[in-house]
Amino acid sequence: MSHNTSPALIGRGVCQELRIPHTEVDLIQAELEANKPYEACGLMIGTINDFIANVEKTLPITNVKRTNRSFELDPQQFYNAWNETEKNGKEIVGVYHTHPVSRAIPSPWDRETMENAPLLWLIAGADGIRAYIWEDGIKAVEVTEY
Ligand SMILES: [Zn+2]
Repeated sequence: MSHNTSPALIGRGVCQELRIPHTEVDLIQAELEANKPYEACGLMIGTINDFIANVEKTLPITNVKRTNRSFELDPQQFYNAWNETEKNGKEIVGVYHTHPVSRAIPSPWDRETMENAPLLWLIAGADGIRAYIWEDGIKAVEVTEY
């Protein structure tokens, strides 16, 4: 994550469920493949109501780090996406990134970064997708594909 994360993203409390359309999961999987061997990353746009995050669309963002160990969202693309999202009355409900060769479990780098970016994290790993959020430690969030 870049360090200019909006205050609007902070302090939503625990999200209990992340709902995401199959089509968006397919797009993330395609990003995973297309960016191999590097990690791919992007934003999940939608709404959060009653502790349920509804992802309406995903938006790939360039990983400026280009490594297979971590990611950093291109700051300009992030800023543009944030502006566009605000304009449309939507929220950035979370970030996604891929683990092309490892499981969908937060790496040590992920854990450190999550603590400073308390929004939903979706990880697409070699073994499928999982979601997490930092709330005094890492909590798993139920993912519902529809
Ligand atoms: Zn990771």
